[in-house]
This record gives sequence, C-alpha cells and structure tokens, in this order.
Amino acid sequence: MSTPPSKPAKNTAPAAAEPAKPSNFLRQIIESDLANGVNASRRWGGSPGDGAHHAAGGPDPARIRTRFPPEPNGYLHIGHAKSICLNFGLAQEYGGVCHLRFDDTNPEKEDKEFVDAIVDTVHWLGFDWEAHGCKHLYHASDYFDFMYRAAEYLITAGHAYVDEQSAEEIRINRGDFSRPGVDSPFRNRSPEENLTRFREMRDGGHLDGSMVLRARIDMASPNINMRDPTIYRIRRAPHHNTGDKWCIYPMYAYAHPIEDALEQITHSICTLEFEDQRPWYDWLLARLIEGGLLTAPPPRQYEFARLNLTYVITSKRKLAALVYDHKVSGWDDPRMPTLVGLRRRGYTPESIRLLAERAGTSKAGGWTDYSSLEGCLRETLEEVAPRAMAVLDPIKLVISNWDAVIGVDADGNGRLDECSAPVHPHRPELGRRQFAMGSEVWIERGDFMETPSKGFFRLYPGNKVRLKYGHVIECTGCSKGPDGAVTAVHATLIPDTKSGTPGSDNIKVKGVITWVGVSDGLPAEVRLYDRLFTEPQPDAGGRDFLASLNPDSLRVVQAIVEPSLAQAQPDDRFQFERHGYFVADRVDHTPAKPVFNLSVGLKDTWAR
Ligand code: ATP
Ligand code: MG
Repeated sequence: MSTPPSKPAKNTAPAAAEPAKPSNFLRQIIESDLANGVNASRRWGGSPGDGAHHAAGGPDPARIRTRFPPEPNGYLHIGHAKSICLNFGLAQEYGGVCHLRFDDTNPEKEDKEFVDAIVDTVHWLGFDWEAHGCKHLYHASDYFDFMYRAAEYLITAGHAYVDEQSAEEIRINRGDFSRPGVDSPFRNRSPEENLTRFREMRDGGHLDGSMVLRARIDMASPNINMRDPTIYRIRRAPHHNTGDKWCIYPMYAYAHPIEDALEQITHSICTLEFEDQRPWYDWLLARLIEGGLLTAPPPRQYEFARLNLTYVITSKRKLAALVYDHKVSGWDDPRMPTLVGLRRRGYTPESIRLLAERAGTSKAGGWTDYSSLEGCLRETLEEVAPRAMAVLDPIKLVISNWDAVIGVDADGNGRLDECSAPVHPHRPELGRRQFAMGSEVWIERGDFMETPSKGFFRLYPGNKVRLKYGHVIECTGCSKGPDGAVTAVHATLIPDTKSGTPGSDNIKVKGVITWVGVSDGLPAEVRLYDRLFTEPQPDAGGRDFLASLNPDSLRVVQAIVEPSLAQAQPDDRFQFERHGYFVADRVDHTPAKPVFNLSVGLKDTWAR
C-alpha cells in the first residue's frame, strides 16, 4: 500500500477545544523532577552521542526528553497512539522534546513502507519531532558502534563474559522463580580471554548460536532478568542500514537503555511488561557512567499500563494475520484498529488524542470500552461536520398533486421547488446547502409501513409527515411489484406547509423524514461498517480471535445523496442527518464515483 503524504486535516476542531488535562503519576513525576532540578545539569551535544559528546555541548535546551520507539515491522495501532500521545504530549506540556526513534536493532527486514507510514501517522496525529533547529528522528541501528564499544568496556571491567553454553543449557541454568540460577562454566574467564572471544564473534569466527555475550551480575538474583542477561548474539543476517557490517547484534534489553542514554532521554516511558527489566536498565547505565562512556544523570524508566480496547486486537502479529488471510482489505481497511485504518474510517486526530487522554495513564491495567472511542469521534465531529441528507435504502415517493399545487414549466413538466438547509445547525456562518424537491423524491424504505406498528409515526396511508426542509405530505398508499414488495410510496402535498414560510407549522405532524430529490440526487456507494469482532476481548486467554470475526462488519449499499456532496473531497467528513458520521473514502472516492464510509452512528447501538 502506498501512503500519500498527509494533507492538513480537514473538518477538525481547533486545538483550543481540547479539555484541561487531569494529572497522572507521570505528570507528577515530571513536575517533581523539574521542581527539584533533577535534569538541570544535563547537556546536549546537538545530536545523540556518548558522554563526552554531550559534555562538549551546551545546557540542554529541552526541559525533558521523551521518545516514541516503534519497531518498523508493521503499522501502528490504537495502542501505539496511546504511547505517542503520552510521549509527545508530555514533552509538549513541559517544554521538552520527544524523539521519534526507529528501533531497528533486529536485522530483520525493515520495510520502508512501515517507516513511511509511521512518520506519516505520527504527523497526522498532530505531533512533530523538530525542535531547537534539529529533527529528532533517529535510528537505533546508528548506535551499533557505541553498543559494541560499551560491550568491550563491560568485558574489560569484568562485567561481561562470553558464554559458550548451548541456548538450552543457558535456559536451564538460569533457574526460575523457585530455583536460583547455576553459574556458567565460562563465567570466570579472564577479561582478556573474553575480549578475544568477543572479537572473534564480531569477526565471524563462530557459528550463529554457538556463543553469546552476557552481563556478569548475579545468577541468584530474585529478578530473573538480572541473572546474567544476554547482551549480544551471533546472527548472520544483513541489516537494512548497516548491511553486512555486523554478524553480532545487541539484545533489545541491552540496546534500549543505551539508545535512551545516547539521546539524553530524561523520562523513558514504557509499558508495564518492562517493569522487571528496570533493574537491568539501571545497572547497565550505572556501569557505563562509571566507565566514563556516559554522563550522569542517566535516563529513568517509568512504566504504565498499556491501552486495551474492547472489540479490538492490538498485536501487530495478529493484525498481520487478518491482512494476509484476506479477512480485511489491507492494513488500512476501515475496520482495522490501525491508525491508517481508523483514519480511513473517518477518525480525526483529535478524537484519538481525546481517547488517549480519557483512557488515563496509570499503573493499573484495565479495558477501555470501544464505545469511548466512538464517543470521542462523535464529540469532535458534532460541532464541525457539515450536514447532508442521504438515503441509504432508497424507495421512490411519488407526489400525485405536485403539478397542480406547485405548477408546471413551459414544457408542461412539474416545476422544481428550491429548498435549503443550514450546513451546520449551530454555525450559520458556514452558509446553506441547496437542493430541489420535485414530484418524485427518494425516501428510506424503512420510513414507510403499509400497516403501521404501534408507535410508528412516519409514512403509512392516511398519515402526514414533513419532508425535512420541505413540505408536509400525506401518504395515500403504495404500489407493489408482482412479488408483493413495495416499489413506490404515494402521497399528496399539503399546500402552504413549506418549511420556513409563514404558517407552515399550522399543520402539526409527529414525523419528520429525510429525503433526496430524484431530480438532483447523486448515486453514491456507502460502506456501512460495524465492529470487526463480536466478542469484547477477541484474543483474551489465548482464544482464537478469528472465531469471533463479525460476519456483518461490512455492508455496501447504493445510496442517493444530496447534491451538495458533489463537492466532497477524499477525507471530507459529514453528518448524514439521522444516520451518523460519514467520510469520503480516502482511497476510492472520486467526485465521479463517490464512496462514503460510515465512521460512527449517531448513537451507541451496541449498548442496547
Ligand atoms: P506489538 O505487540 O503490536 O508488536 P509492540 O509493543 O511490540 O507492539 P513497538 O513498535 O515495539 O510495538 O512499540 C512502540 C511503542 O508503543 C512501545 O513503547 C510500546 O510500549 C508502545 N505500545 C505498544 N502497544 C501499546 C498499547 N497497547 N498501549 C500503550 N502503548 C503501547
Ligand atoms: Mg514489538
């Protein structure tokens, strides 16, 4: 899929409309750090680098530094949006900078497609990494040289050793929660011997998997992550950035603290599953500061509970399965919880930022209901989306006395009657939309019942309703096809009832229905989306999430829409009166062949 560059978001609320933000534990930590000058001595060398590089620079112009570190192996999803909003948001609030860092230390194929999509998506969400004259967009693989140097330092200082046990032996000897680990027979080799071996590893002298470099910490630690964690492994795989330069690659838990430190990150915010890694994070950076490779203070890691959203899965691997098994049309299918999918569905950046804020930031995990996300979208669109009428399940309404009441033109055809409606009911400055009523209009099939059920106030023989922004009509019956299905509804016009004209309210009606004129209505494809899964937690407890795919998550209808929508551009959002919020599809919509996606209904229908 190609990702066209972002256009400025349309129909979006001004930033000032965003509500005041309540405090959370991260805001409290940052405020306390700022008050106590914890990072006041920090310097910034103008780019990422080691301790000496930063020491040579001036005082850090950023009051805090955070980072969003995606692995470019897939598309970002709503869970990532939480992390983006948190990291970029905190930096913005406290006069800091947030770095966008591609965590590409795995030599697996980094797809340019994913990198471009991530850059585009973070921008679309409203964030940027340019500050103090530089673009803080970094690649972790640019730090491989430093990581290697740091590993040699750890070896020299007696803090690391090459372990030639098999992977299986290492696993068994690591012990578990109830059993302390067993020292490797290679643990007490001399630094010289370790250095020689490690250089041999680097130079391709050993087979993949034959040995690893491990930190030398404590095999009896109650924290298993501290039982001599692996630092480097041998892996003969070309890397997209460094090519064949390396056949050894750092482990994530070793690389990550170093990446943070080289970038002078102050607050390294991650999800709770990294809590047990924090002692290793701190241990490693303390050793490198001791060795003079880095300067104090080191970055500090803080963990928060990840965002879990009901009716959604947020694992790149499982989302990829939906794409590759053709359960959806692609990463940007409007039913996908990817940010490209939500965007195509019509979600605004504001609505996603609002969800991220509302979902809260805490240490206690929990589930955010999908309807909160939908509520955020309705809230951000209500005041800005232009209104339009659309008939999604059209049937013709024929007004028998039209010509007699409204008159005929020179050719003897029934005249058209110009009607108009506000573009937005509370924003007269947005102007009015025009459309014509004639002797035939399209109405919703569901607005007519030959024999009305109790409480049905719309069209049935003998009942009067108002055609919104138009006239009052009285239903006189219907015509049917050979199969008995209704093919047209018949009515008569009640004179002097046109909306906005004096006396038009003299006739009281209980029902007002939406319609589109046969003379000027535009055919359009409308894609009615629903939740992709029927279960609130589709993959909980290792369940097969494919089993709860909603078979009715997409229904495509041929609708008729009012003529003002001829101007709709891809990504333009509207409220179709009585139906919900819709967006012109950013991929398939053209003025000649309009396509609208249902973003969200006007009400939460799942709550019933
Ligand atoms: P996945 O499991 O989908 O691959 P990941 O966490 O491995 O996700 P990364 O690209 O490594 O994906 O994540 C980048 C950042 O986004 C990390 O800091 C990660 O903690 C954060 N993140 C991912 N999912 C969530 C979530 N559901 N809630 C909050 N933050 C998240
Ligand atoms: Mg990952």
